[in-house]
Amino acid sequence: MPRLAHFRAKRDSPRLELDTTAILHVDMDAFFVSVELLERPELRGKPVVVGGQPNRRGVVSAASYEARRYGIHSAMPLRTAGKLCPHAIFLDGRHDLYAEWSDRIATILSRFSPVVEMASIDEAYLDLSGTSRLHGPPLAAAHALLKEIGAKTGLPCSAGLARTRLVAKVASDQAKPRGLVWVPAGAEAKFLEPLSVRRIPGIGRVTETALRTMGIETVGQLAGIPEEGLREFFGRWGTALYRKAHGEDSYEFVIDAEPQSISHSHTFGSDTSHRPALESMLSCLCQKGAKRLRDACLDARTVTLRIRYAGFQTVTRSKTLAEPTHLDPVLLATLRWLFERHWEHRPVRLIGIEFGTLSHGATQMGLFDPEWRAKLERLARATDQLRDRFGFAKVQFGGSLGSAKGH
Ligand SMILES: [Mg+2]
Repeated sequence: MPRLAHFRAKRDSPRLELDTTAILHVDMDAFFVSVELLERPELRGKPVVVGGQPNRRGVVSAASYEARRYGIHSAMPLRTAGKLCPHAIFLDGRHDLYAEWSDRIATILSRFSPVVEMASIDEAYLDLSGTSRLHGPPLAAAHALLKEIGAKTGLPCSAGLARTRLVAKVASDQAKPRGLVWVPAGAEAKFLEPLSVRRIPGIGRVTETALRTMGIETVGQLAGIPEEGLREFFGRWGTALYRKAHGEDSYEFVIDAEPQSISHSHTFGSDTSHRPALESMLSCLCQKGAKRLRDACLDARTVTLRIRYAGFQTVTRSKTLAEPTHLDPVLLATLRWLFERHWEHRPVRLIGIEFGTLSHGATQMGLFDPEWRAKLERLARATDQLRDRFGFAKVQFGGSLGSAKGH
């Protein structure tokens, strides 16, 4: 990929440039399939799936719009796709070829703006502010750019033009296939209002479920919730959500998308089978992960331990908890339980933890007596506050961290 300028820098005075900022999000339509169709035009109009054969393991990496009508989408197991549409044409992926075409597209894009960020192999953000002298107003430039990609590559694409990256991305999604959607400054709220919260980049299943329990399904409803309310329920992620609901970019925040899982690992300088060293590292990683859960107001239902031995042999073992939690003692007891059962008493190169099956505001049912739980909650909150002030390394639980009841 050509080395292109990036524009992730924060703007110091966003208010001043509000109305002249023009971000274009360009997204290729069914990119891998479209590239394959260039060489095999006879497949046009047919359900085509790229990723491999339907009788093998693996997932769909792209599906033509005709295949999508059968419910096929990317990341779906190939076998499932084969069942949904047995007469689809299944092709193996050719990633070198796709990367080549991606480069050609990036080269075209770079002629329209000095500031281009390839966000992935088939999508890019362009800053069209201040390019008027060369290409005319942003909308005209966007139109010319789409025409040029079509003429030079024969590949279909869509684009969204707006004041922020977030709205531009949502707009290009709405424009598909082969369309261009412009959201003028000031029209963002009206544009986003009727859309499902899932249309917002970064909002996934976990957040959607939590919002639904609050009676929120559309971006308009979400935008009606004050920031403090969202922070109370979602932690720092709540601030990002608030900005997203109002069409603002949130990449200057640590959290830009709901986490799928939280993981930490440590590679030892030299392999070790010293039990106290391994156990205290386990405790440290657990405390880091648990704090991140609490920062995002998340609870984890699965706990995973990863041990890598010399020679890169890796063992991964998980346990599902009776109820989701963000409390150190419960998480650590589970990790210790896994460690006891699965460590082969051999020198360890890397030890890692992962908290998964995350949810917001899970109901805390009665495995623990409420008084004990309240005490643990207070302890966790107090420790987190100290850590926010003094740094993580300065505040650690000692070896006294007891094992939880019920484990
Ligand atoms: Mg795409």
